[in-house]
Amino acid sequence: MARFSIDLKSGDLSNQPNEIIVGIDLGTTNSLVAYVNEGVGVAVKDENKKTLVPSIVHFGNSGRIKVGEEAHRMLVEDPQNTVYSVKRLLGKSYADVEQIESYFGYDVIDDGTDNLVKIKVRDRFYTPTELSAEILKSLKIKVEEELGISVSKAVITVPAYFNDSQRQATRDAGKLAGLDVLRIINEPTAASLAYGLGKNDDQKIAVYDLGGGTFDISILHIQDGVFEVLSTNGDTFLGGDDFDRAIVEHWINEHELGSSLKFSGKSGGQALRLLAEKAKKHLSSNDDYHAYLEGIEFALTKRQFEQLILPILERTIACCQQALKDAKLDVDDIQHVVMVGGSTRVDLVKKLIGNFFQKPVYDDLDPDEVVAIGAAIQADVLAGNQKDVLLLDITPLSLGIETMGGLMDTIIPRNTKVPSKAGRQYTTSIDGQKNLKISVFQGERDLVEHNRKLGEFILRNIPPMPAGLPKIEVQFIINADGILKVKAKELRSGVEQVIDIKPTYGISEEDMGRMLLDSIQNAQTDMNSRAILEAKNEGNHIVHSTEKFLEQNKEVLSPSEVEGIISLKNDLKSAITGDDKDLINSAIQDLNLYSAPIAHKVMDIVIRKAMKGQKV
Ligand code: ADP
Ligand code: MG
Repeated sequence: MARFSIDLKSGDLSNQPNEIIVGIDLGTTNSLVAYVNEGVGVAVKDENKKTLVPSIVHFGNSGRIKVGEEAHRMLVEDPQNTVYSVKRLLGKSYADVEQIESYFGYDVIDDGTDNLVKIKVRDRFYTPTELSAEILKSLKIKVEEELGISVSKAVITVPAYFNDSQRQATRDAGKLAGLDVLRIINEPTAASLAYGLGKNDDQKIAVYDLGGGTFDISILHIQDGVFEVLSTNGDTFLGGDDFDRAIVEHWINEHELGSSLKFSGKSGGQALRLLAEKAKKHLSSNDDYHAYLEGIEFALTKRQFEQLILPILERTIACCQQALKDAKLDVDDIQHVVMVGGSTRVDLVKKLIGNFFQKPVYDDLDPDEVVAIGAAIQADVLAGNQKDVLLLDITPLSLGIETMGGLMDTIIPRNTKVPSKAGRQYTTSIDGQKNLKISVFQGERDLVEHNRKLGEFILRNIPPMPAGLPKIEVQFIINADGILKVKAKELRSGVEQVIDIKPTYGISEEDMGRMLLDSIQNAQTDMNSRAILEAKNEGNHIVHSTEKFLEQNKEVLSPSEVEGIISLKNDLKSAITGDDKDLINSAIQDLNLYSAPIAHKVMDIVIRKAMKGQKV
């Protein structure tokens, strides 16, 4: 469930400014599309000034497909061929949804072709992905009509608890609708972005999302533009629909309608339910409601309504308590509370939640629109139009460690999707080396000094072994929260050390862009520096082994051989202090040419001696 967004994939870097990437809230009950116009997020309206598109698809007998308001009307007329709440089925198997099958008024089945649930309408099978694509297509048309240009790129939101398969199904739905889905982001993250909360430092936010049929509470930690989901809780069958149901029940009891056919059955039930929803919405800004249906007067006061829904709201508070507990936080730790979802228009909801968190809630923006607007802001960041928001769910820069001579050895290249894991083996360069310092860096340059140091640690207590013998495995593991764990293990002895590092800590989008640009501009210089360093490393290695050779073979070398070797070794040593790689390489070559025959001679002597010692 990561988070976070700057996209530095090469394709996205080349986005033309002014290109519009839209943000889409694909909801269970309602969906909508938004875009950023001159820095401000706007939700797209239809000809009736409505921004919400009911997430409903109707299949007519002529094969005509209706989406949104038109399909909503068919819910009463033609319920079997009208599909709603398809988001509940996205990325799920039949076994996942078997228990809730009766909730759907249409056929939810297992057609045996794959693991995924299907929906049967008029003798045809549809995947939830295809149905979601119909909703997305209608949103695409809606925004294209408003802007008068074609739109092909989008950011789509999903609940924070969506798993990989649900996220993938959402992505696929976008693709089917002709949209290039640049990013899937979490709904609570989007809502926080809409309130500009991504820009401030180190804060914890509760996002309370009460929609039509679902309730989600998410606790987020925002630090340096990185959104981390600390915990989520909620109820996938709790929402505004329950308010409607409570009102219907109240009226049925009040008027003793239990046996009345007019108010039961599919269409009669729907009519009363729609009236209840109307009453509920009316009471968000009025103190009482009344209307006539089938000659009966249905009335409700705000006080009555609040009494009816109090038990439902208490259930949401229990979820909030659990979410805080899971995040190991107290109410005081939460700096901001964001209201999302149509049902948070109800005064009592805002009052109770404000009381629970002991602070005023954010409700200035339209709770129906905040998620789509946040997605649009994210899209605008991806389009390159905003500079001060940073979100990541890829590694924006390469991660690696420092090797001999200050070289950067990349272990996880940039643009790798998180979570991710990669490793490499290293060894020591000194005989009997006991400790190995592992310095972790982020950046694209060949020399670590040009990259950003993220942290370092020492692998201690390596048993003494000759240089080159220890096998040290360094592993980088980035979890879904964007936290990098670095493990180093000496495989022969099993000595191990682990540290946690925040890879994106303190990097602004601007810094990141600069670091990437630097790496491109300095590629040539870097190649040269790398060649110099490699020459120096090799030179040092040869100086070291030559000294060892001289020390070990004192008795068998002639004084002139010793003198010759020492003189060439000193030439090499002085070449290493400079930056001329050709000079270093030729000094290496000279020393090798001179000492190779001597080494062979020495080897022969050593072998002969060893043979003599043997008793044949
Ligand atoms: P979802 O995210 O599940 O798609 P929404 O956030 O669009 O759902 O919320 C839809 C719910 O909000 C419905 O139950 C609707 O009746 C309710 N709702 C919309 N406007 C109001 C209002 N003014 N007062 C109370 N409830 C409202
Ligand atoms: Mg929603």
